[in-house]
Amino acid sequence: MPIAPRVLLSIDYEPWFALFRHYDGLSDPDQRRALDGGFTLRALDPILEQLGNAKASVFLVGEIAGWYPEVPQKIVAAGHELGLHCHIHRPLKNVDELAQDLRASAHWLRQYNVRGYRAPMVGISEAAYPLLEANGFIYSSSMYAPAGLLLQRGNVWEIPVSTTNPRIHAQYAAPRDFTFKLLLHGEFPYGSSFSIGLVGGQILRIIERELKRGLSPSIILHPYELVKPPASARLTRDLVLHPHLLPFLRDKSGFLKTLLRNFPVSPLGMYLDEMLKTRVSYLPYAERPEGVT
Ligand SMILES: [Zn+2]
Repeated sequence: MPIAPRVLLSIDYEPWFALFRHYDGLSDPDQRRALDGGFTLRALDPILEQLGNAKASVFLVGEIAGWYPEVPQKIVAAGHELGLHCHIHRPLKNVDELAQDLRASAHWLRQYNVRGYRAPMVGISEAAYPLLEANGFIYSSSMYAPAGLLLQRGNVWEIPVSTTNPRIHAQYAAPRDFTFKLLLHGEFPYGSSFSIGLVGGQILRIIERELKRGLSPSIILHPYELVKPPASARLTRDLVLHPHLLPFLRDKSGFLKTLLRNFPVSPLGMYLDEMLKTRVSYLPYAERPEGVT
């Protein structure tokens, strides 16, 4: 029996400065913590309140768990799934760097039995999957592809962040890079919070359509989209210099409220558990589920 379709809701829990690449090389932990200025701690309670009884996957940046051990604690205590979103946020395709991040976060990953990984910038390399498997992960959500796909690499499942189904027939395998060409072929990454910032209302309609087709769309939000980060001259300057990032900072608490009022949601791990219980086997790399044509 097919499982009930739902929105696979995730929050990539990262500091506001994760948006801007020029902070990637900032290696002094005290400076990084000072830049966050306590925002990732202060934002948590209001976000948990906004989620209410709905349960989500929260992919946490490990350095936040180091600054504030109560953040992962509260996420788990509120019944959400805790996942990893790297230790220090920057593009992370190099497998040696990923191994370093896994070591740096090992303490809380073990403590909370973390099973899910979301790569920063939704970009992952092939070599990452065996490394994730060796570190106890059972799934990753680190590429874009149409809703309903569940792909396998070794013993790690890839649950893609959702795109609309393209007009052309395509083969899917993990990993996969999202390109402008795919967009031109009609594949719109509506699960990205950038897209939600651009055309939030339309995305609710896409989600409704996907659910009616029996598919479970996977979408991402960020803490600074649900709770406003404190205004600062630095943030203003960063945005003036990078205006294309503005959709990321658009307030999406209204979007979340409408989403939760209208649609069922679940963490990704719970969805995977249900899928694996109801489906006996999957093809090793890619399968087009029923409903995806
Ligand atoms: Zn991120």
